Amino acid sequence: MSHQTKYLLEESQLPKAWYNIQADLPKPLPPPLHPGTMQPLGPADLAPLFPMSLIQQEVSQEREIEIPEPVRDVLRLWRPSPLFRAHRLEKALGTPAKIFYKYEGVSPAGSHKPNTAIPQAFFNMTEGVKKLTTETGAGQWGTSLAFAGSLFGIDVTVFQVRVSYDQKPYRRAVMETYGARCIASPSMETNYGRSVLAARPDHPGSLGIAISEAVEIAATNDDTKYALGSVLNHVLMHQTITGIEAMQQMQMADCWPDVIVGCTGGGSNFAGIAFPFIGQGLRGGAKPRIVAVEPAACPSLTRGKYAYDFGDTAHMAPLTKMHTLGSTFTPPGFHAGGLRYHGMAPLVSHLKELGLLEATAYHQTECFAAGVAFARAEGIVPAPEANHAVKGAIEEALRCKREGRSEVILFNLCGHGHFDMAAYQAYFSGQLRDDHYDEAELAMALAGLPSVPEPA
Ligand SMILES: *Cc1c(COP(=O)(O)O)cnc(C)c1O
Repeated sequence: MSHQTKYLLEESQLPKAWYNIQADLPKPLPPPLHPGTMQPLGPADLAPLFPMSLIQQEVSQEREIEIPEPVRDVLRLWRPSPLFRAHRLEKALGTPAKIFYKYEGVSPAGSHKPNTAIPQAFFNMTEGVKKLTTETGAGQWGTSLAFAGSLFGIDVTVFQVRVSYDQKPYRRAVMETYGARCIASPSMETNYGRSVLAARPDHPGSLGIAISEAVEIAATNDDTKYALGSVLNHVLMHQTITGIEAMQQMQMADCWPDVIVGCTGGGSNFAGIAFPFIGQGLRGGAKPRIVAVEPAACPSLTRGKYAYDFGDTAHMAPLTKMHTLGSTFTPPGFHAGGLRYHGMAPLVSHLKELGLLEATAYHQTECFAAGVAFARAEGIVPAPEANHAVKGAIEEALRCKREGRSEVILFNLCGHGHFDMAAYQAYFSGQLRDDHYDEAELAMALAGLPSVPEPA
């Protein structure tokens, strides 16, 4: 039995390829649809928004896709990331379970997001793109793309959801430090933003609206492309570097996970840790349980409908088949800004439909309680999003205690909470409430799902 706490890989063990789960799917992913014609999209339809290399990755059926050397060179700034055994948390919980966590907060942006921001900026740069637009919720993705843009000489404009822009002023300062421009969304800079503000001048914004604004700028400017921080197949694939490293580290620990837990906003950090393990299971290997944890106030996987829906509010982005709350759904104001998206990644949704993963939802105060317990045992203050994964892992550990089982639990600690201390302050002063979404609004948003012709 090892009492080691930290499992570190050498720089030379940094993975050389990403894992593409599309190669191992028992049933192919339903195709994305064009927002105008509702017919399956071709690669050319995506060309105004994305560089061809990323479009090819989006549809690739190859199991492994090589990570270019200039990308690995940047990733080496903080990767391979550490895997920890949470001995003190286990003791605090009195559980016979072994809890491991992969820590992605060691990146310059403090989360897993640079794992995809770096390759996205790189592939855009190689195809001559000079400007990128994007959206951000809590600011993690905007920060990461700003950082990546500064390394590869690309101008980055970030539309930040208004409530987060006001709640987290320091995130904007970090984006500006990296040279990006950060605009509160809805804004006066786009036709769509102006139309939203005309209807409701104090609109708090949503990821769906911010995506529409960023897409509008990219679609109407030849020198500008768009980057998305989650949801898309290629984004999830870039994140698999986490799970591939974790497999090597679990081997070092002489353990293999029985349960893997991640929080899900758009699904990318969850896919990053889980997909390499799910793929191994699909190829005949071990099949750990896979648990996605989402906020009860924005529960796309547990309460959404599996249907074709628009990725954005203005219906400019393609439709994908996913678990969705409806593109007009605006969640109540809770603090895990990165988990506020109305839909779930098509790949994660597809795997849920195939019975290859489970989903649970928790309210924010119980997640903060879990995060605080984690910080007091392990030292790291998790991001509010990551608190959902911590809560999920603790629930599994407590189940092991009740059942007297010493299972191995692995979770993705996807980021630290150093920019989110206002949320912790609200929690400690008792001001954090568990707002429930409006059932009538959800019903309306779901009733408004587009009707799509059945594919032949
Ligand atoms: C963006 C973000 C998330 C949510 O996005 P996923 O694509 O679901 O990973 C979760 N945690 C942190 C720390 C984030 O920055």
